Amino acid sequence: MYKGIAASRGIGIGSIVLIVEHELKYDNKKIEDTAAEKQRFEAAIEKFKTETKEMADDIRKRIGPKEAEILEGHLFMISDPTMSGEMSKMIDAGQCAESAVEAVCDMFYGMFSKMDDEMMRQRASDIADIKVSLLKILLGIEDIDISKVPKGTVLVAKDLTPSMTSQIVKENVAGIITEIGGKTSHSAILARALEIPAVLSVPNITELVKDKDSAIIDGTEGDVYINPDGDILSQYVIKREEFIRKQAELDKFKGKETVTADGTKVELFCNIGTPKDAKKAVECDGEGIGLFRSEFLFMDNNHLPTEEEQFAAYKEAVETMNGKDVIIRTLDIGGDKDIPYLEMKKEDNPFLGYRAVRYCLGNKDKYTIQLRAIMRASAFGKVKIMVPLVTCVDEIRSVKAMVEEIKKDFDSNNIDYDKNIEVGCMIETPSASLIADMLAEESDFFSIGTNDLTQYTMSVDRGNADVAYLYSTFQPSVLRSIKHIIECGVKAGIPVGMCGEAAADPLMIPLLISFGLTEYSVNPVLVLTARCIISKWSKAEADELAAKVLSLKTESEIVAALKAAAKD
Ligand code: PEP
Ligand code: MG
Repeated sequence: MYKGIAASRGIGIGSIVLIVEHELKYDNKKIEDTAAEKQRFEAAIEKFKTETKEMADDIRKRIGPKEAEILEGHLFMISDPTMSGEMSKMIDAGQCAESAVEAVCDMFYGMFSKMDDEMMRQRASDIADIKVSLLKILLGIEDIDISKVPKGTVLVAKDLTPSMTSQIVKENVAGIITEIGGKTSHSAILARALEIPAVLSVPNITELVKDKDSAIIDGTEGDVYINPDGDILSQYVIKREEFIRKQAELDKFKGKETVTADGTKVELFCNIGTPKDAKKAVECDGEGIGLFRSEFLFMDNNHLPTEEEQFAAYKEAVETMNGKDVIIRTLDIGGDKDIPYLEMKKEDNPFLGYRAVRYCLGNKDKYTIQLRAIMRASAFGKVKIMVPLVTCVDEIRSVKAMVEEIKKDFDSNNIDYDKNIEVGCMIETPSASLIADMLAEESDFFSIGTNDLTQYTMSVDRGNADVAYLYSTFQPSVLRSIKHIIECGVKAGIPVGMCGEAAADPLMIPLLISFGLTEYSVNPVLVLTARCIISKWSKAEADELAAKVLSLKTESEIVAALKAAAKD
């Protein structure tokens, strides 16, 4: 069995088609007739654009607009005069088209791949994809036609580029295995959109298999079997049926309210990063937006988005949600999220440094722009302001004072906004948890950010693999903290939600029901799963399990007890 990253759920069983990488070799000779070489280069760029556009159009029709955006991004990049202009200059100077393409793409690749932020690093794989496509056109190399693979194919490749994925016919591909790529890589996004099981980052897999080998892939666990024996095969045939049955069961929850087994209604919201994601939230049956990570708007830009630009983005999300709650988290940068044009200082301890609300309160001019844009969007629906990384009462008071100032300005200038707009705290630091009773008196709502709460409570950098064994929301300290926060919110009569990943964890859900959480905010694709799990637990059953779990002293005992009690 080989292990990789579980990137798209489900069980795939089939026969391997290995996508072999062609050697992109060329003769790097000095060019005399630079005009003719430029023509060859320009013809290749035109061919690339036409083919990419056709593929993007096809993806938009077959899969969806969000997925087509990846290829449209390639078109956008190659149309940027900086990139093709640099290539042209090199050809003018006598370099052959292939070497100009390679040199410029490698330069951009190097730049993007060094960035701390995953979204930016993703641009590096776009550049690599563009480079390979352009070189293949220049060298006249034809790839295997993925659109023609037979039913029951398991595709194995070093990386599955968006241009390859765009050719996939969903009915014929049983699974995808790659050597590189993570949960948020383009191949993962597309595999999930196509609902094809995928396991990525399986070391050396392209060297371990050959065409027509049989394969099982478990995209939920990240497991891959090559030429499995009969026993394993029959186990996985059963698992596959079980998975399909469960998916069908989830469909029953479409369009339904989210209620516990004993009839208590809770809210099931979605986490989004862009206004377009709000459409996904609606499609997936989300009942509102519990976390709009507004920093993506800033990270996807080369300048500080203006009040108008931000207003348009927030309004788009709010209008898409059509009167349902939209909780917009104000700029949460610093830590692992850098925005180059803000020129923030390098820090020795960025997670403990000048980040999130601390940065915003130190840069009130920039923060005012964001708060104004959010408050103007509140005229179009039900908007709430959420403040990240709060550690003390002064911070929430300062934000509220700014909101009051803006209200006065809006009133005197007849600018529309929701006069009852709520301002709440993200509770994601041990300090906020310890003073949750005090913060509850100053806030309209709480939302627990378990991703950071776990990091700070356990003193574990959430991105450091060496200490990942300690990074668990099921550690007794983290569970106590979550319970305490919810109890403080409930006592003060304010709604308490959770927008960290734990809100969708089937093992965590019964504990949250017991503690009294009233709003769960999850990745859109997990809405139905969360609704299904919530429907299986009554408060009394959840209380019994929680009492047992809270008496246990170690994370492994807790997880074992929760697994033993799990209902799925
Ligand atoms: C969290 O910390 O739980 C959270 C939801 O925010 P982020 O993951 O964006 O830090
Ligand atoms: Mg956080």
